[in-house]
Amino acid sequence: MRRNVFIGMKQNGRGLELTLGNFLRSAVSRNPEQKIYYQDKEIFTYAQFYRRVVNLANALVKLGLKKGDRVAVIDWDTNRYVECYYAIPIAGGAIHTVNIRYSPELIYYTISHAEDSFIVIRDEFVPLIEKNKELFSFIKGWIIYSESGKIGSSLEPKYNYDDLVKDEPSAKEKGKDVDIYDSAETSLPSTSEDDIATIFYTSGTTGLPKGVTFTHRNLVLHAVSLMSTLNEPPMSISSKDVVMPIVPLFHVHQWGFPHWVLSKGLPYVLPGRYNYALILKLIEKLHVTVTAMVPTILQLILMEPGSEGILRNSHLRIIIGGSALTEGLTKRAEALGLTVVGAYGMSETAPALTVSYISKEIEHLSPEEIKREITSAGFPVVLTQVKIVDSEMNDLPRDGKSIGEVVARAPWLTSGYWKMAEETEKLWRGGWLHTGDLGTMDRYGFLRIVDREKDVVKSGGEFVPTIILEDIISAVPGIMEVAVVGKPDQKWDEVPVAFYTSKEELKEDYLNREMDKFVETGRIAKFWKPVSFIRVDSFERTSTGKIDKKPLKERVRGGS
Ligand code: AMP
Repeated sequence: MRRNVFIGMKQNGRGLELTLGNFLRSAVSRNPEQKIYYQDKEIFTYAQFYRRVVNLANALVKLGLKKGDRVAVIDWDTNRYVECYYAIPIAGGAIHTVNIRYSPELIYYTISHAEDSFIVIRDEFVPLIEKNKELFSFIKGWIIYSESGKIGSSLEPKYNYDDLVKDEPSAKEKGKDVDIYDSAETSLPSTSEDDIATIFYTSGTTGLPKGVTFTHRNLVLHAVSLMSTLNEPPMSISSKDVVMPIVPLFHVHQWGFPHWVLSKGLPYVLPGRYNYALILKLIEKLHVTVTAMVPTILQLILMEPGSEGILRNSHLRIIIGGSALTEGLTKRAEALGLTVVGAYGMSETAPALTVSYISKEIEHLSPEEIKREITSAGFPVVLTQVKIVDSEMNDLPRDGKSIGEVVARAPWLTSGYWKMAEETEKLWRGGWLHTGDLGTMDRYGFLRIVDREKDVVKSGGEFVPTIILEDIISAVPGIMEVAVVGKPDQKWDEVPVAFYTSKEELKEDYLNREMDKFVETGRIAKFWKPVSFIRVDSFERTSTGKIDKKPLKERVRGGS
């Protein structure tokens, strides 16, 4: 007999609740045979994936997970991580995606601040915890997995992940496939679309990381909005696409991929720990057509030996976010036949706020003008309200010139920071979410981020928008990556200094001449011209792979 208690199936007065359980059931019932790949080692159909999710959710409840509990996950980008993305919220909990690029102290801090009750952890991260296991007396259970199948560890009580997700023996005994609708258990709690489904931490420039939370409803609406936006050209996602994001699952819901890819019913490839040679091999072998990453990762993939041939044949379409897409990087990608589009958002916004696409508004523009829009931060996605305001919250004109703070509203922005009421109030002052980013919006509604408020260089009372300046410098032949910071100056308060990477040292004379050309053509004001260029072997990165400007600022301020 068919059970009529489906996971998260609760209806409200408006119809089916926007829960991740309902979202997943719809995705799986529409495309049960579609595949999820862990590298090229393991393949699961959506139907198998669903059963593993339901088994894990049931197991968590049996182990003692209570409604509202947080469950941490510590892993690379794997199919198991995506299973947790669904199983934990379906079991009534919130998944805490732990930033594994944080220092151990920050990892410990975020786990204790979130007061996680269980931890799902890959074996290679276990020693990190064992070293200080006395800090984790509040953890009710460790769910460990290992590709070797053995889970030797001193952490107690411990459970083998793969035992918990295994198909029910009864189904196997019967020798027939389990009906995916019947596999739900009545023991699962009913979830509401307003329950918190995720929590993760975002680092401010100062102070401790802040936790942001999102509800089932936030995530479902975010996915639906992204899907409708990505249907537009040039991404034009279709049933022929194979998707492999190179955005860590610990970082802002991997920009929504674990949700929208399943709903769209596409093959979804998880590359595990990032290894650029393997990533290129997967692109080639599994015919990946769509990906996403921060500019730095694209830069690293382009530098990988053998990348050119593979990428040239791939016709990959790449969503670039997290930092601005520079002219230099766009040119290098396009030379290989890749399509790159810009997108913008932040941890607090789930993350999507804007994505570039060829909207009705810009269809009539010249190819060059369209390219400029497509590589901007993008156009507000469906259901968002994004605008640029001055310090008194007055709207600034959409003229592509007026610089102000980007503020936003959407049905999926975080309602606030976990256990930080004061910070939450600041984030939401005036009823809009304050991004702390400075930008311009042009008459077609496309956004360009010109700086973080904290990074802007103020010279002689005027702004030098460092992101715009970096974009321009990135196109100088020989420059690979560039970061501009302000150096204290007695006369002007601050003057810009450019740090760059390049294969060979570039003469200061040459760089100055190139800058003079930009001044002559009016692309930069004279006072934007960096007073010096400093070559570095590589940049320090933040925990999410962006260039870390903090050490550069310290260096120009007289530190090391
Ligand atoms: P995070 O919260 O770590 O995801 O970082 C979000 C920040 O990254 C934003 O507030 C921006 O400062 C920056 N960012 C994201 N996308 C872009 C973009 N397309 N252009 C420039 N900066 C961006």
